[in-house]
Amino acid sequence: MKVTFIGLGTMGIGMSLNVLKAGHEVTVHNRTRQKEEAVAKEGAKRADSPRQAAEGAEIIVTMVSDTPDVEAVVLGEEGIIHGAPQGAIVIDMSTISPAATRQVAEALGKKGIKMLDAPVSGGPEGAQQGTLAIMVGGDSADFEKALPILEIMGKTVTHVGPIGAGQITKAINQIIISGTYLTVAEGLSLGMKAGLDMKKVIAAISGGAASSWVLHNRGINVVNNTYPLGFRVKLHHKDLQIALDTARELAVTLPATALVAQIENGLIARGYGDDDVSAIGRSIREQSGLK
Ligand code: NAP
Repeated sequence: MKVTFIGLGTMGIGMSLNVLKAGHEVTVHNRTRQKEEAVAKEGAKRADSPRQAAEGAEIIVTMVSDTPDVEAVVLGEEGIIHGAPQGAIVIDMSTISPAATRQVAEALGKKGIKMLDAPVSGGPEGAQQGTLAIMVGGDSADFEKALPILEIMGKTVTHVGPIGAGQITKAINQIIISGTYLTVAEGLSLGMKAGLDMKKVIAAISGGAASSWVLHNRGINVVNNTYPLGFRVKLHHKDLQIALDTARELAVTLPATALVAQIENGLIARGYGDDDVSAIGRSIREQSGLK
């Protein structure tokens, strides 16, 4: 298939390389053009703008940062909407607002262009290894058409409902992991204060009920007090805002999510917004007097 990727950041680079290596005809565009080089070296075509990248494409994947960025690359002056052929499917795999997703899909729909929202979980490791969890919203027929491409990028690909449902599912994912990041930081800080061998502690509890992706993959960051990417604090904070806005619309109470968002406010204010989100551990360590 002819597949276009817009956004070759931490996630988009691995995802596009996997689709290319699976034998599809890939075109890429990234705002910072230099980031296109790694995929171009493997055989992808480069395009000068999202509009040009969308011309002739059957599938157009967007993997950019936030809601205004998706609006810019899809609906902007040089946006996908001006280049994509009728019947093409835009798959937005960024994590953005469900309400804005529905508006973007409506604008595309008026030009005969389809849209799926397909945010992901699993980090850069999952992007590189093609093992992401992908939660998809949109029409069933579009989902079936896009499935072979999504299955290259993800191990679990689930059609959860109509357009926007993927983003709501991702908000649920972010709500759940926010509590896990916080409690992993709390538990490990307690162990360090008690002077335990934390590698042994993590090994001891990893096979039991406290096991989680966060403990397994990011617990060591809290122990070492270094937070390499990963997933930026700033981006997770953006996701929690999406969750809190959606909770307000639906009249749902999210006390733990609101607490973690406040801790992240403090991290961003102190210049740690580009650290991995496990830097929540930095706050708990500092408040516990750990060096
Ligand atoms: P990232 O490393 O910051 O990359 C974002 C990419 O989007 C960059 O290539 C950037 O271009 C491009 N971009 C941003 N705004 C743009 C705009 N207005 N116009 C054109 N291009 C724009 O982010 P990421 O970690 O790959 O995350 C991408 C999305 O996936 C986010 O929505 C994030 O929440 C979600 N996500 C991330 C992870 C993770 O672990 N990293 C996991 C799951 C989901 P430049 O290179 O020019 O800056």
